[in-house]
Parts: sequence; C-alpha cells; structure tokens
Amino acid sequence: MSEPLLQLDRIDAGYGESRVLEAVSIEVHQGEIVALIGSNGAGKTTTLRAVAGVLPLRAGDLRFLGRSLKSVPAADRTELGLALVPEGRELWPQLTVRENLELGAYPPRVRARAKANLERVEQLFPRLLERRSQRAGSLSGGEQQMCAIGRALMSEPKLLLLDEPSLGLAPVIVDQMLDTISALHKGGMTLLLVEQNLTAALELASRAYVIEAGHIKMSGDAKALRDDPAIRSAYLGL
Ligand code: ATP
Repeated sequence: MSEPLLQLDRIDAGYGESRVLEAVSIEVHQGEIVALIGSNGAGKTTTLRAVAGVLPLRAGDLRFLGRSLKSVPAADRTELGLALVPEGRELWPQLTVRENLELGAYPPRVRARAKANLERVEQLFPRLLERRSQRAGSLSGGEQQMCAIGRALMSEPKLLLLDEPSLGLAPVIVDQMLDTISALHKGGMTLLLVEQNLTAALELASRAYVIEAGHIKMSGDAKALRDDPAIRSAYLGL
C-alpha cells in the first residue's frame, strides 16, 4: 500500500497531569473513511485534537502527507490541508451563517478561491444558502452541524476530522448527516470520523479503530468489526 495520508505513530497526549492517549497508532489512507470508536472518555476527541494541533504531542510522531507535524502549529496544519469539525461545532453564534463560512477561508492557500468555494458549499448545503443572513446561533442542531462542516470545507481540506457529527440530532436529521458524509466521501474526501452511532460509523467506514482508555484495542475492516461478537456485545449492545 502507498504511504498513508495521515499516520499517528505511537502518540501520547493528555491534559495537565493526566495522560489520556498512550502509544496510539492510526493510519488513514487517501480516499478512506476511517472510524475511531470507543466508549465515552476513551480518548477519541483527544486524538482528533492532537491531530489538529490544538493539543500538543507528548511522545510519538504524527505525519501528514509524508511530513512530521510535531512542530507545526494548528493554523499551519489547516494550510497543509487538515480540517477539524469539532464536537459541539464551535460556531460564532452572533455571526451570520455566511460570515461563519467565510471565516473558514482564512488559510492563504485558499483565499483567492473563497467565492467559488462558498458557492460549492452552499450548493452542497442549500439550507445554508437559504439561511445565509441568519445568526448561526439561531440555527437548528442539524443546520449548525452543516455550517460547521461547510466552514471546514472552505479550507479545501485533504483530510476532514469529524467529531461526533450526529451528536444531539433527531434521528431523521442523523440520516441526512450520514448521507452528507457519504456524499463527501464519494466526491473524493478522506475522513477520520469519531461517531457515537457505531452501527452507522461501521457502515460508512472502510476501516475502524477501537480505542479503550487511551489505547487502541482493535482495528481492521469495518464490516469485520461490525460482525465481531466482542464488538457487538461491548459497543453495539447486541
Ligand atoms: P466522549 O465521547 O465523552 O467525548 P472521548 O472518547 O472523545 O469521549 P475525550 O474527550 O478524548 O474522550 O476524553 C478522554 C479523557 O480526557 C477523559 O477522561 C476526559 O475526562 C479527559 N479530558 C478531556 N478533555 C479534558 C480537558 N480539557 N482537561 C482535562 N481532562 C480532559
């Protein structure tokens, strides 16, 4: 197989005294959806934050497009093509939908194409076009998630890090969100997905990693993991 787009090589990360991730190794190849699954507090969000550069590595290495990101600050990682859609969306609630999207076009690499990218995002999410002048804080949960994904797409990512995109959404909206992720993937996007809806995550993903208490416990083909009796009883309640 060719060199991975993203490679986490035995990374450690944590907060203050607490060590959350211990020797976590994950690979994401071009064109894949890779799911990171595990219980609450297992370290999924921490992993995405370490990749995005909002949390420093304490050990190990992180490579993207073949270069080490260890000393690359978060903003420069966006410039290289990494975009995080954080848990809780983190929009600017007082700004309009369009202003939130435009803020996603801050990397110098994409500024000249901001207008074309805005059109593309508003085509992908017509609801965001309809609501372009509305404050982001007044959107529904599903619309806020679209806005957060749209903002990330404005930076023309090569890898999208999606943290719990379906969290807090009504079931019918969750289905739309999963369809959107699938459409992005079909359009060529590579994704690292953290998702509490495990059935959906394992359906969408080609491969998955199971993280428990900061360690990768299992990894492999998503369909095989979905059929694994240990996974079914531990995580799917089956
Ligand atoms: P969840 O589904 O609950 O978000 P997760 O797998 O994403 O779970 P993380 O958010 O990565 O888990 O948290 C891993 C551990 O790190 C937890 O024990 C959590 O309490 C701790 N933690 C997370 N954020 C912080 C923080 N800012 N300061 C201190 N500890 C934190």
